Amino acid sequence: EAAEIGLIGLGVMGSNLALNIAEKGNRIAVYNRTGAATEAFMASAGDLAERIVPCYTMEEFVAAIRPPRPIIIMIKAGDPVDQQMTALQEYLSAGDIMIDAGNANFRDTMARFARLRDTSLTFIGMGVSGGEEGARHGPSIMVGGTEESWKRVEPVLTSIAARFDGEPCAAWLGTDGAGHFVKTIHNGIEYADMQMIAEIYGIFRDGLGRSAGEIGTIFEGWNRGRLNSYLIEITASVLAARDPISGGAMVDMILDKAGQKGTGKWSVIEAQQMGVPATAIEAAVAARSLSSQKSQREAAAAVFGGGHADFSLSGGAGLEEDLELALFAAKIGAYAQGFAVMAEASREFGWNLPMPTIARIWRAGCIIRSQFLDEITKAFTAMPDAPNLILTPAFAEMLKQSLPSLRRVVAAAVASGLPVPALSSALGYFDAYRQARGTANLIQAQRDFFGAHGFDRLDGKDFHHGPWGSGLQDFARL
Ligand code: NDP
Repeated sequence: EAAEIGLIGLGVMGSNLALNIAEKGNRIAVYNRTGAATEAFMASAGDLAERIVPCYTMEEFVAAIRPPRPIIIMIKAGDPVDQQMTALQEYLSAGDIMIDAGNANFRDTMARFARLRDTSLTFIGMGVSGGEEGARHGPSIMVGGTEESWKRVEPVLTSIAARFDGEPCAAWLGTDGAGHFVKTIHNGIEYADMQMIAEIYGIFRDGLGRSAGEIGTIFEGWNRGRLNSYLIEITASVLAARDPISGGAMVDMILDKAGQKGTGKWSVIEAQQMGVPATAIEAAVAARSLSSQKSQREAAAAVFGGGHADFSLSGGAGLEEDLELALFAAKIGAYAQGFAVMAEASREFGWNLPMPTIARIWRAGCIIRSQFLDEITKAFTAMPDAPNLILTPAFAEMLKQSLPSLRRVVAAAVASGLPVPALSSALGYFDAYRQARGTANLIQAQRDFFGAHGFDRLDGKDFHHGPWGSGLQDFARL
């Protein structure tokens, strides 16, 4: 009996994905560059081994799959994918589909898609989120490619995806790079979500003197409310964990330098490239970079003093509720920005990205999964062409309720010297976004002054340069 699908790359993600595929009743052929990894994988597959065909040559691997053959490539991103594609290509026949499921840059995906366009083969770029656990038991799957190739893989992919209210978190989002682009923005939002949580943690720890355990209990409570999400849930668990060596809180023993693999940075670069403000995501990426400059921060603390005053709020609903609402408002900002970047990319690359579907497949399986994404699904379903999430009636209302808390929290944090770059970026974005008369009139005047760039007038009159410099005399003559 032929396999329904093939998979190359039995690393952490590939082997978990293969077990998930087999567990859902699909027959799968697997191949790994190093045969020993295939043997070890089969030995660990247990009962699922009966639906898995281990292959040790490219020829037997390809022959084991039912045509047209969908082949998932789940290996180290970058050049290895191109090498693997080239090696595989000569064994394939018309209609076969190569699927890159790694964390590719969507521009590489577009190039790979284009490269295969003149052949009888086709390419899918597939974003997979949820880490090891998601791959094994239900990831969120974001697919870019032709609709025809999606139809071939849809049954298998929907069978292995996470579910929210019974609906699979896997969808076809558009051609070529659409899936990997959406995965990139997912990761950008994830960076912002994590950074904002860390900033609130910092207020509790440094401004209010709370212990990790105490903060964990607060997050645990928040996870039952409007902030209910995987990231809040794991934050509560992390804060509760004890270090087996010192016996203290685990988090207190961890070096404050955050790593990054590039997807957050890509989302910011693409946002800038398209001229879409994504300030909360930018702040989060920059905060990780600053975190890694540990020795410089230590030197600066010695020069300027790293201390801070006690954090206190006046007015408002009460300290903890204000912090909860502030985090909620800022979170709306990060998602609004992420979705705005996707809307612009959709126009620029002709993808026709379905916003309600994207929110729908992020509700479960992925790292940013939450109740909140169900609200976004509903808001975009009701208003699919909303220019911004915060202009949908539901989110406008939520933001009106929570924005005063964000303002109080950011003001108090700034006053006491606590860094809140992502929270304050979200606030700055809202304040600028709702300003019908901004201050760019002055920027235009400055640009005209030094570069004669010209400006448009509010009254529409045909007079496009200011009375500055030599122009002053011209103005006097008018
Ligand atoms: P691992 O390091 O666990 O596995 C790497 C795999 O790539 C191995 O099977 C390895 O084969 C193979 N490989 C490396 N170089 C080559 C090459 N030149 N030719 C052929 N095969 C090669 O990686 P992961 O499973 O963690 O990640 C795989 C992909 O999934 C990456 O793109 C990653 O960014 C992405 N991803 C990872 C997530 C995670 O949480 N880890 C989440 C979502 C996506 P060999 O055994 O022969 O060395």
